[in-house]
Amino acid sequence: MNTAPRATDETVTNQSRPANQGGRPGYGDYCPIGSMLCMQGQGVVKGYAIGRAAIMSAASLEVDHYRIQEADADAECQRLEQAIEQAVQDLQTLVDTLPADAPREMGPLLEVHRLLLQDPLLYQQACCFIRERQYNAEWALTTQGQILVEQFSSMEDEYLRERSADIRQVIERVLRVLSGSTSLLTNIDTVDGPGDPLIVVARDISPADMLRLKGARFAAFLTDLGGPTSHTAIVARSMNVPAVVGLGHVRSLVRDGDMLVADGSSGVVLVNPSPQVLEEYRERQRRYLSERQELAALRDTPAITLDGVSVKLEANIELPEEAQMALDAGAEGIGLFRSEFLFMGRTDLPTEDEQFLAYSSVVKTMAGRPVTIRTLDIGADKNLDGEATVATNPALGLRAIRYCLAKPELFSTQLRALLRATVFGHVRILIPMISHMHEVRAAYQAIEAACRELDARGEAYTRNFSVGAMVEIPAMAIAIEPFVEALDFLSIGTNDLIQYTLAIDRGDADVSSLYDPMHPAVLRLIAHTINAGERGGIPVAVCGEMAGDSRVTRMLLGLGLKEFSMHPQQLLDVKKEIRQAHTNDLRVKVATALNRAERIDLDALP
Ligand code: PEP
Ligand code: MG
Repeated sequence: MNTAPRATDETVTNQSRPANQGGRPGYGDYCPIGSMLCMQGQGVVKGYAIGRAAIMSAASLEVDHYRIQEADADAECQRLEQAIEQAVQDLQTLVDTLPADAPREMGPLLEVHRLLLQDPLLYQQACCFIRERQYNAEWALTTQGQILVEQFSSMEDEYLRERSADIRQVIERVLRVLSGSTSLLTNIDTVDGPGDPLIVVARDISPADMLRLKGARFAAFLTDLGGPTSHTAIVARSMNVPAVVGLGHVRSLVRDGDMLVADGSSGVVLVNPSPQVLEEYRERQRRYLSERQELAALRDTPAITLDGVSVKLEANIELPEEAQMALDAGAEGIGLFRSEFLFMGRTDLPTEDEQFLAYSSVVKTMAGRPVTIRTLDIGADKNLDGEATVATNPALGLRAIRYCLAKPELFSTQLRALLRATVFGHVRILIPMISHMHEVRAAYQAIEAACRELDARGEAYTRNFSVGAMVEIPAMAIAIEPFVEALDFLSIGTNDLIQYTLAIDRGDADVSSLYDPMHPAVLRLIAHTINAGERGGIPVAVCGEMAGDSRVTRMLLGLGLKEFSMHPQQLLDVKKEIRQAHTNDLRVKVATALNRAERIDLDALP
């Protein structure tokens, strides 16, 4: 739940680097411990992997730089042009033959790569280097690639900044065509043979390469670059293969065949560990796998505590397709559909019909179970394309409901789409980042206006919907009573509530050691909100990361929480904790600590 990486093996990580602020290792840190190397990255898909390194070739690291004869410039330009054309064709073939189980993002990602390659500037500028400086094609292309990467990396807009990774990847693809090499892995031809499983080690993995690797069985993916939403993470998640990204130097420090241990939860990677450490991790892996099997058996059991308190477990999703994952995990509903993901990564806004299709598909999949759809939470770290923020402090700026109320047309389009989805089941409209009652009133007015517009059009919708708000601004939690009266339900967004209570930017690694979900002030706000909801007779959920962290489940039960919403993958871990808890004991213990504003010792909870 803390955004800072946390290693599971204290004995290893405490020695792994000079202590930084707060003493935790950061992504990209590494350090030798005897003959073993310990690296810290960002774990993006849970699970343990033990196997041999299979290094992914990086043509950009191996490219020849030499000068050509002036008379050969035309031929060299032509060689480059043909290589780009070949790379474009290869991408098109991949798009045309996408396997049915490929992640939904894959097609558009490949399309972006094809468009980047077809940008005439790439070829023309590289050709200038060939003609004017007599660079060979590979050198000219990497030089132009570097310029583009730097330009994109310094852009304000986060989406455009992220495109620098795509540029690196398409350059890599053309370099591979120029070198005539088709193999992705430097030294290993067959991956499915006998022996230790293979762990792919790469600087970065493009979506096209991930597709090629998807066919074979790898134990894990490790990359220097990337974050939780990188292509590696997306595809590895769909394959359910452990992955650690943001390792910084793994591609250069690890050699083919090195023995590796990867922990996809903590992000720790060990290179050539001793037999004792290896055995310790084999044991962890066995335990993890048997726990997963045990947990699977809980899917259809009720989430009831030992003293008979029934708890509702729902799922957080970001894309409509994930609703099925929620059902498969046994979720009783969708507690948070982050609708902004329909708006991001594109240059236009989704139409009412497009949004209606997305919302109604989730409502249909959930077959009568409640579906909580959050209205657009854009701003701060999530921007619409082409809308670079100019606010000095975007997290405190025109974000979420503030943004929607400032753009009435955009808001009413979304509300109409949401209302139309009510025909298929129970829709709960969730308004983010509320701090004032007048914002609640304005949201209700916008909903009523959207109803009238649908009436005027003769469009079908029902009144079977409820309206709630995210509690993520301390002011709302402190003065919660009128909100309880005005709304049908509340959902506590602990990610932002912690950020705003402690004045810690949740995306700033420099202060991440101060991001503290267990701070008594945060817990008092949560407790106050739950108690007010109980008194006012409306349900209160937690849908921030804390809800899915099984280490704090008993503490949240002790605060009186009865509704949790989390990533589907976390649901069974949390259910297991609930089924072993006794809420009476927990409530007494937690209340005593909170009254004294003391930190709660999780290990001391009954
Ligand atoms: C939260 O703030 O806790 C939350 C669930 O919303 P988001 O992480 O999307 O801001
Ligand atoms: Mg939030």
